[in-house]
Amino acid sequence: MLDFSIEPEYQAKLDWAARFVREEVEPLDLLFPHGGDPYDTGNAKARAIIKPLQEQVRAQGLWACHLGPELGGPGYGQVKLAYLNEILGRSYWAPTVFGTAAPDTGNAEILAMFGTDEQKARYLQPLLDGDIVSTFSMTEPHAGADPKEFRCRAWQDGDEWVIDGEKWFSSNARYASFLIVMAVTEPDAPAHSRMSMFVVPAETPGIEIKRNVGTMDERDSEDEGIHGYIRYHQVRVPLDAMLGGPGEGFTVAQARLGGGRVHHAMRTVGKCTRAFDMMCERALSRRTQGTVLAEKQAVQQFIADSWIELQQYRLLVLNTAWVIDTQPHGAARTQIAMCKVAMAKVLHDIIQRALHLHGSLGTTNELPLAHWWMGVPSLALADGPTEVHRTTIAKQVLRNHSAAEGLFPSEHIPPKLEAARKRYAHILGDDGLAGRVNA
Ligand SMILES: Cc1cc2nc3c(=O)[nH]c(=O)nc-3n(C[C@H](O)[C@H](O)[C@H](O)COP(=O)(O)OP(=O)(O)OC[C@H]3O[C@@H](n4cnc5c(N)ncnc54)[C@H](O)[C@@H]3O)c2cc1C
Repeated sequence: MLDFSIEPEYQAKLDWAARFVREEVEPLDLLFPHGGDPYDTGNAKARAIIKPLQEQVRAQGLWACHLGPELGGPGYGQVKLAYLNEILGRSYWAPTVFGTAAPDTGNAEILAMFGTDEQKARYLQPLLDGDIVSTFSMTEPHAGADPKEFRCRAWQDGDEWVIDGEKWFSSNARYASFLIVMAVTEPDAPAHSRMSMFVVPAETPGIEIKRNVGTMDERDSEDEGIHGYIRYHQVRVPLDAMLGGPGEGFTVAQARLGGGRVHHAMRTVGKCTRAFDMMCERALSRRTQGTVLAEKQAVQQFIADSWIELQQYRLLVLNTAWVIDTQPHGAARTQIAMCKVAMAKVLHDIIQRALHLHGSLGTTNELPLAHWWMGVPSLALADGPTEVHRTTIAKQVLRNHSAAEGLFPSEHIPPKLEAARKRYAHILGDDGLAGRVNA
């Protein structure tokens, strides 16, 4: 039985979170609006504001809720997390204030699963406490969507691993205390067993951030962007820096992505809802050609289509969360990919309409819509491009189907009609015609 219901105690927490995000956290989006601000642990003023906010979140038992009990989290299932993430999606700063900012969440999962006790003490605990941030360094400048093309190498030299190569779009590298780096250690192995994963302290000699690349929504940053183009110049780390075994880099990477994608999807629902609310307010407020916009059929169509798309997407994400909660590990793979593919489109379509209905004002930096709109292309690429997830969906779905047995499709009408005539021959008579028979 599908069940997305929320018990009253948790609903009370969600109500608290909704009010808290609106009143206490959304102002941070205005005060510290740049892409890297939530990750910049050196910004004393921002930290002075968020520390007490994070304490309030802890007091409510809502800090880092994605963690299982073994890591001090409440062990909420994905449906509960989805409802919380829907609220957090309203604000760029909210994931940081609630201890659920990516990629730190996924990196924490990797360290928890594959790190040594020493690595956990040194990195995992401060990460979980929100005191440091981290980077996931996988994409390379010549190849992102296909990790089988990666060239960054690592080899063993005595009691050290040596990492050498380039990485592209390693987000937040400029603020990170450590990087989780994927490198080829088994070049002759089958494609999916060539890579291994390493934890690399940011201060290790040989790490050069060639530049910090900015995306279009970060263009007006005071400083450079936040996506590190990194050269690893024969960077040396101890043998136990390898997370998982040699050639298990893909397995380790996969361990971190599933839940995070669902959280991201539900945060997108929250952002879309905010844009949708703005659309409705505008439609009811703005007059042109003798009526408010809300009375124009074209505008009604915008609102109806947006509401349908938003509700469809919200149900898809909740259903995915429910599958993760109730079915064996891996059962939600197709669903998660569906959430990822649909996410950029639903966000684009709803924000585009909301922006359009606000006319010239919608295009300005005096409303959040243009800024959100510029974030859409990134959504369709980060964490794997749309096409790759579509391929996953199609392959999984096709496994439940098979090729036609004969020359013609199994729904070909002539043989089916023949079979139908035979099936009811005792009523149709010798001519097999299904014509109307007068009583
Ligand atoms: C905002 C943002 C943050 C990011 N953060 C990180 C990070 O922290 N760490 C990290 O390692 N990486 C990060 N990335 C990189 C991200 O993982 C890559 O952008 C993504 O994997 C795509 O790789 P690429 O950019 O090299 O695109 P390419 O591989 O060059 O893709 C080019 C085009 O080919 C299309 N394509 C790919 N495969 C297929 C296919 N099978 N069929 C048809 N078309 C296809 C793609 O959709 C795209 O349109 C981030 C990206 C963004 C935008």
